[in-house]
Amino acid sequence: MTLQQARICIGCWQQMHLPVPLRGVLSVPFRAVGIRPSKMNPNTCTVCELMFTRVMRARKITIDATILFADLRGYTTLSQSLSADAISGLLDAFYDECAGAIWQYDGLLNKTIGDAVMAVFNFPIQSEDHAKHAVRAAREILKRWRIERETLVERFGLAGSDLGVGIGVSSGELSFGEFGRSHRDLTAIGTVVNTASRAQSAAGSDQILVTQDVYQRAQSDLAGSQAKTYQLKGFQEPIELYAA
Ligand SMILES: [Zn+2]
Repeated sequence: MTLQQARICIGCWQQMHLPVPLRGVLSVPFRAVGIRPSKMNPNTCTVCELMFTRVMRARKITIDATILFADLRGYTTLSQSLSADAISGLLDAFYDECAGAIWQYDGLLNKTIGDAVMAVFNFPIQSEDHAKHAVRAAREILKRWRIERETLVERFGLAGSDLGVGIGVSSGELSFGEFGRSHRDLTAIGTVVNTASRAQSAAGSDQILVTQDVYQRAQSDLAGSQAKTYQLKGFQEPIELYAA
């Protein structure tokens, strides 16, 4: 199912049963009043972003969600030898492939942080299967990036560079809202977010590591996956992660 071409806003339909056209002739009057696809997920709209604003005013909400972090490997080393054009070309291509994969599974591309992306699943588009969707999006990122990077390696003469992707996925309750003092930012915080980020750091090149919670929710997609114990930075106790 390719949701990149949704004709109406999935967020508005789910929350209010309101058909808000995003594409085609019917969307023209809506665009004229500023209702258009959101930049964080083009299958949601700017009205949905107003919903984010309501969340911001409430300061924060607690939601059950899945967080995905994906990080481009070898980028720091490369950024010392590449031209500025090549670096931004590489990052743009990486962000584009991540965005496409995340949106395909109804995720929200919440942030790009240096050479990493952070996505939230189950907000604002809701699904009981958000953990499964995140695992599928993670696999889709690897699949898309394998193809894309061959072109980039050739274009920028990067043979021998790593350019793999490490991915971490974690599910559970987290706080979503506006955080930060000097610079207010709409994002998710909590142990679930930190765990996904650390799992991403622990993942090898082209590897996806998921927490036990994700494993339990997405078991049918993770048959045969074995747990391994990891001592993650900043965590007192070792935790079990599954390769997806
Ligand atoms: Zn909407």
